[in-house]
Amino acid sequence: FAGVPSASLDDARAALTRYFGYRDFRAGQQFIVESVLQGRDALGVMPTGAGKSMCYQIPGIVMPGLALVVSPLVSLMGDQVRALIEAGVRGSYLNSTLTPGQQRTVMKRAVEGTYKIMYVAPERLADPVFREFVSQVEVPLIAVDEAHCVSQWGQDFRPSYLAIREFIESFEKRPIVVALTATATERVRNDITTLLGLRDPAEIVTGFDRPNIRFGVERLEPKQKRARIAGYIAEHLRESGIIYCSTRKDVDALTEWLGQQGISATRYHAGMPVAHRQESQRRFIDDDALVMVATNAFGMGIDKSNVRYVIHYNMPKSIEAYYQEAGRAGRDGEPSECLLLWSDGDIATCRYFIEEGGGNDELSEEEVQRVKSAQRRMLDGMVGYCRTTGCLRRYILDYFGEDSRNEEGAAFASSAESCGNCSNCLGDFDAIDVTDTAKQCVLCVREVQGAFGKSMIADIVRGSRSQRVIEGELDRLQSYNTVSDSAAQVKEVIELLVAAGILDISDGTYPVVGLGARSFEAEQESFTFSMKKIRRPRKKASHSP
Ligand code: ADP
Repeated sequence: FAGVPSASLDDARAALTRYFGYRDFRAGQQFIVESVLQGRDALGVMPTGAGKSMCYQIPGIVMPGLALVVSPLVSLMGDQVRALIEAGVRGSYLNSTLTPGQQRTVMKRAVEGTYKIMYVAPERLADPVFREFVSQVEVPLIAVDEAHCVSQWGQDFRPSYLAIREFIESFEKRPIVVALTATATERVRNDITTLLGLRDPAEIVTGFDRPNIRFGVERLEPKQKRARIAGYIAEHLRESGIIYCSTRKDVDALTEWLGQQGISATRYHAGMPVAHRQESQRRFIDDDALVMVATNAFGMGIDKSNVRYVIHYNMPKSIEAYYQEAGRAGRDGEPSECLLLWSDGDIATCRYFIEEGGGNDELSEEEVQRVKSAQRRMLDGMVGYCRTTGCLRRYILDYFGEDSRNEEGAAFASSAESCGNCSNCLGDFDAIDVTDTAKQCVLCVREVQGAFGKSMIADIVRGSRSQRVIEGELDRLQSYNTVSDSAAQVKEVIELLVAAGILDISDGTYPVVGLGARSFEAEQESFTFSMKKIRRPRKKASHSP
């Protein structure tokens, strides 16, 4: 605001200590706060727990006027504001949980300058009463929390977020905008910038690495999974851990089976009566029960620092979902482990849910299709994680865009860098070189120009004499009969190529394989491609608690 001296980073740091008791900003926070104070829009991508709220609360405190925070999490606003008030910050919120009378009081007080920060839901921005109110206050800053909701490439697209841009631009003096999210693929970041109308935003992606967590991936037959889990628990009897299953049925069945093996576990899913759920949660948090078997309904807002392991009984639908759940391990910084058990059936289940899902009244048919398409891409990223022979940590960090090498946000299948603390870097498998197979598959896709699906590509390169191949004269192709691997292996190579962005699978009823954005890599002299074969079969669970 013209004439008002702007706050400095020192003011901001002083507020951080005075109100919240923290000595200094975390690296990403300082970058965002500094940008905002200098009058520049900012986009911050940080995982849950990294401290996104300081990025707008501190500027809100030290800047003149009232900072607005747009958040979709109406049910959390009350708590957020209570925490602010306890810290001595004049916070407020405006949402449908307040009576109309209370809402009027809040707005009246805001006009009188009572508050520094106000949380609002995105739907509110279109409300004429709210617009009229906003025109009477000085708004130096608008923070958009959960900013990925503006993008159809995220999992929680909210059409109401599309109205934020118009709201921002309706001000005579445009406020500074800071957007925050934990979802960081390049597509989502671009959407946030464009759809919110950010102006040359200072952008930062930080805090995704969790060095104390060892990541592991194991491909198992569905019937092997239980024994693997029992064996794992037997080796970690005194430690606290969470086992995530994708369905309530699996939660119930696994808990019961573990009980029969003499392992007492508590469980949690949304199908249980609230009282039971709360009781299991309490027992887990108080360490009365060390093992929690749960669906993804468990964990939101739960801060238990000594969770030593998180095992996934099924492959989740996206890296975002996986990392959020896995990230509940090792909050205290002590060595912890995250193990993902998967089978082909998990991929099929995720595909099924994407294709069959879609019931959302808020979205048009076209939007539903775009959301599905995004979900398929996210699933590809998750499958790529399961199958990569490269460093698992690197894969995740690249996925979240923490590494500038990966501007496309595309997943990749192999990497020279290793963390030394994941099952791939520690080499529980043999990487088998499938460069030739990969090259022939890419050549074949090029030759048939995206006319066929995975099975047909595999048939062609393997030299099938099927009717379709012969009648289509596909035996004349250069790539015909160039590969001797099994059909299953060739299909797996194709899936890995898709995860790496070298090939692409179209959406729709008959998915066809085409070239991906990185197909050029397969042309290069230096191109190599590998896939993994688990070296030592896991020892049978010999469980005796
Ligand atoms: P997010 O919104 O990214 O999930 P929060 O804003 O809720 O994260 O912050 C997560 C935790 O980190 C909170 O307990 C918060 O008090 C703490 N925190 C935030 N910033 C700092 C800091 N600079 N120093 C120490 N702790 C911090």
